[in-house]
Amino acid sequence: MSSGLPPNLPTRRRVLTGAAGAGLALIAAPGMLRRAAAQSWRAGDPFSLGVAAGAPRPDGFVLWTRLAPEPLASNPETPGGMSGGDVPVGYEIATDPAMRDVVRRGVASAEQAFAYSVHLDVAGLRPGRSYWYRFTNGDAVSRIGRAVTLPAPGATPDKLRFGFVSCSNYEHGYFSGYRHLADENPEFVLYLGDYIYEYIEERRPVVRRHSDGIEAATLPTYRNRYAQYKLDPDLQRLHAEVPALVTWDDHEVQDDYADKWGKFFDDPAQFLIRRAAAYRAFYEHMPVRPILSRPEGPIMRIYDRFGFGDLIEISMIDGRQYRSREACYTPPNKGGTHLESNESCAERRDAGRTMLGFAQEAWLNSNLGHSKARWNLIAQDVLMAQLGIKQDSGFGFSTDDWDGYPANRGRLLKRIHDSQVSNPVVVGGDAHSFFANDLRLDFDDPSSAVVATEFVGTSISSYGPPYDLIAKALPDNPHVHFFESRRRGYTCVDLERAHMQVRMQAVSDATDPKAEVATLKAFAVEAGRPGVVGA
Ligand code: FE
Ligand code: CA
Repeated sequence: MSSGLPPNLPTRRRVLTGAAGAGLALIAAPGMLRRAAAQSWRAGDPFSLGVAAGAPRPDGFVLWTRLAPEPLASNPETPGGMSGGDVPVGYEIATDPAMRDVVRRGVASAEQAFAYSVHLDVAGLRPGRSYWYRFTNGDAVSRIGRAVTLPAPGATPDKLRFGFVSCSNYEHGYFSGYRHLADENPEFVLYLGDYIYEYIEERRPVVRRHSDGIEAATLPTYRNRYAQYKLDPDLQRLHAEVPALVTWDDHEVQDDYADKWGKFFDDPAQFLIRRAAAYRAFYEHMPVRPILSRPEGPIMRIYDRFGFGDLIEISMIDGRQYRSREACYTPPNKGGTHLESNESCAERRDAGRTMLGFAQEAWLNSNLGHSKARWNLIAQDVLMAQLGIKQDSGFGFSTDDWDGYPANRGRLLKRIHDSQVSNPVVVGGDAHSFFANDLRLDFDDPSSAVVATEFVGTSISSYGPPYDLIAKALPDNPHVHFFESRRRGYTCVDLERAHMQVRMQAVSDATDPKAEVATLKAFAVEAGRPGVVGA
């Protein structure tokens, strides 16, 4: 391709048969490189799934791609149409989008054990700036992506724009929200879960089909789901242009799961096998840190912390892997999300129940306690505010979001209050609705202190819950300032030292691949005063 490229790197595994050091040897031997460059990818583009950057730090980031010349190939022995051992993949990092000023080049490894994905952990770069990168293999060159390094820890940046997204069900619509968020040119995007959906839609209208027609539950079927989503041009563009901070929710594994408990409390040992496959596929497709996040069986650490100078510290939370099982499950068919009142379910309010798990809770407490940042963001998967829905039997509360774990929520909010965390804000997804909420020390007492502010972003495409049911409940939940479940989109945050502006962006029609976008509602938070402004 471009004359600015280094010599092409070898592609086919058979070129490297057996020799662990072969990649390095080849780099050192230009003659061999030229011969290896004759390898071609006539069968398909190995970079069909695009590129992504993530996990930014002041001196580096993680660059991701996955070799998949046949992205939807379903043979578990040859994921993405690849076979053989690890494959060396060349990379270049430049200070300009045209890749003229290359400051780093080398060879990364596409790991056979992880579906030929690359997780290149780059260090030693300068803080607080953009870099551009691409991968090469044989005669194939990836698209160019943008990465960022975070400002140095002592830096005092005065503004930051970031977005957050959740819940992109491929069958429910197009991903125009991803495209429009890319147009906003944010520093990074928080992916708050339900990046894929494991199930097949059988009740509601379908805009485009999950290609294999079966619920993802095994490594090949989860891989297939990620590959199909990654082929979406809007998602691919957002990843190429904007670095990602990621966590997950339930649909990356199974609807409403909690730790080792599936939706219907099937055999936990069996469920953990499924979870291991799902987590592994997540790792294979996300720009997460290999040292932190490489999965071991059903265990994978994704919670992580990011500081943008002294302006904001972001704690990315895992709300699924460590939580207590859903309260008051009653077989045979009342698994997963359901409403329970104080009378119908004492278990929900049990003090021993946890959403975060005690290790993650201690880690979060430590972050919040030590943070010197002006703003402190808790980025997690589900609605944190209480939402009581009046029923014949009293108020009902969802068992799948923080209402299913009120003891943990109470501890967290009390901790934030007692330790006077500077400007705490919570963001979430999962609800397929926009919410703007005050988080109170005691939700049942409208005069209790407002401790933090919460914004929930609507889904990119997934259908929303019944509007009337929740709208009718709002007078009973005065801490909820805004609710809208009928629109799809994303949220964009413009942060300054004294002021946070939150724009809820709605697309015109998620069933239209060319949908337009407009601001549905904008809110603010003023530094020093927790709570929603502008409702
Ligand atoms: Fe969802
Ligand atoms: Ca969810």
